Amino acid sequence: MRILLIYPYPLYDRSQGHEEDISVVPIGLYYIGAVLREEGYDVEILNWYKIHKTPERIVDTLVEKKPDIIGFSVLNANRWGAIEIAQIAKELNSKVKIVFGGVAATFLWKHFLTHFPQVNFVVIGEGEYAFLHLVKVIERGRQKNLQDIKGIAFRKGGKVVKTKAAKPVSNLDDLPIPATYFQYQHVVSSRGCPGKCTFCGSPKLWGNRTRLRSAEHFVTELELLYNQGTRFFYFSDDTFTINEKRVIEICKMIIEKGLKIVWVAISRADLVSDAILYWMRKAGCTQISYGVESGSEKIRALLNKRLKRDDIKNAFSLTYRYGILARAYFIYGSPEETWETIEETVDLIKEIRPFICVFYILEIYPGTMLYSDLQQRRHVTDDVWLEKIEGICYFESDPDLSQELVLAFGKRLREDFFANLRHFVDSLDLADEEEFYDMHADFCSRLGMTFSHGDYAQNEFVVGREGAAETLFRKALTYAPDHRAYLGLGVIRQKRREYEDAAKILAEGVKHFPGSEELNLCLGISYMNLRGYDQALECLLKCQDSEETSYHIASCFGALGDHQKEQAFLEQGRRLAKRR
Ligand code: SF4
Repeated sequence: MRILLIYPYPLYDRSQGHEEDISVVPIGLYYIGAVLREEGYDVEILNWYKIHKTPERIVDTLVEKKPDIIGFSVLNANRWGAIEIAQIAKELNSKVKIVFGGVAATFLWKHFLTHFPQVNFVVIGEGEYAFLHLVKVIERGRQKNLQDIKGIAFRKGGKVVKTKAAKPVSNLDDLPIPATYFQYQHVVSSRGCPGKCTFCGSPKLWGNRTRLRSAEHFVTELELLYNQGTRFFYFSDDTFTINEKRVIEICKMIIEKGLKIVWVAISRADLVSDAILYWMRKAGCTQISYGVESGSEKIRALLNKRLKRDDIKNAFSLTYRYGILARAYFIYGSPEETWETIEETVDLIKEIRPFICVFYILEIYPGTMLYSDLQQRRHVTDDVWLEKIEGICYFESDPDLSQELVLAFGKRLREDFFANLRHFVDSLDLADEEEFYDMHADFCSRLGMTFSHGDYAQNEFVVGREGAAETLFRKALTYAPDHRAYLGLGVIRQKRREYEDAAKILAEGVKHFPGSEELNLCLGISYMNLRGYDQALECLLKCQDSEETSYHIASCFGALGDHQKEQAFLEQGRRLAKRR
């Protein structure tokens, strides 16, 4: 039995740099792969989130791999991709069995089996063991045993049937660790979330009870991945900090095992504490995403996001105190959204001062309370998903809102946020605890780079980008010598043609990081601009292996009248350029 597990492409391409939410194979597919591998099956996982750019690879790969079963991880966004690939697979081999699983398949199992003959089976909910049992039944050709498999749906005698629901895995530690077989960066230590937000499918998908892996089981997974070379992780739990004791245990274990990792996590503003954040930072956490959704109490209540304003404020200020980037998610275009509620969100953003805000228009997906409500209010059926849409914008179902108005809300939120970022930088308040100084320096300089070279550098709505970067680089250096901060400050000074200042800063940087090519190159350039060619050569000759440096060295020798060496380095530059 050859099994392919495919993560298909979405309906709409994300703009460059915004692929994050769609480019990663869901961890559930790795769990299914691991369970099948444990049983000796030949399984391969394919991330086909952008294979539609080179569609010939779909046929080529399927012809080459000759799968007997293809399992698809289906989200609302990529369901058409799954259907299209399934169609191609069926045309190549009508006997291949197509299995849909994942969030969209769980909530739309009847829809897929009713309208798409290329889909043979749907795995509903947690899929590891349902998929395994299905593979075994298919392998043995015992169609009549399908009814005994819990948690699947299929067609029988022209009808769509669903079997009894499968029980969720009671102890997540009993599942094999996918890192034994695969390599990935997105990990989860739990399933489920205590929240019941109306726009979220998690409560219905995972049920009311949140299940936690033990700290040991989770850190073993991190260690396996670490030993494969992974250093950066996304902890993708719905809410990583549900249980304070366990979070601290995980963090302590990461430190004890000497895992030098950097990671980001998702949490709720009412589920973090001083102790949690202290240990998370010490164990390598650099960013936490919080769903704040709205500044309006009324809208948060309508979305069932039961968060108190004080908890939100407290979470953001505590997170920043430990030098962790707090990322805020906001939703707009919600029920009863008005200019007044948008202004409440604007005000809250000014109070919590996040450095990253992600603003989404409220969309409705199957499996959410908003979707059930929409079905009742507007008599919408699952046939709506026969349209080529990823989700349904809430405003389309609300006569009090219009697309124009909602887009204007978004513009207001984004522009105000970008205009105020500079002030947020000025008010950054980090814990004055010596054990965090190195981390604070790293945090400030990274953030500084966001303004000078990263996401905000090209964003004209961000007011005072250079000043913000400078403030952050300077702040970084108050904590510890930081390579990025020296370089960032030096480059800013050079851009302003303040070469003496640049040279001073960069020379200090070189004292701390004598082997740094970047610092030596920048310092050399500053000296050249000050006509200090001998000093420039001292720096540049330390990093002469690049084309750019070769030309600078040639210029210095030229200025000093050594034309033989000038020619030699010009020649070296040309040679390096050819190799490029
Ligand atoms: S939005 Fe977040 S807090 Fe709300 S139910 Fe979903 S995962 Fe839980």
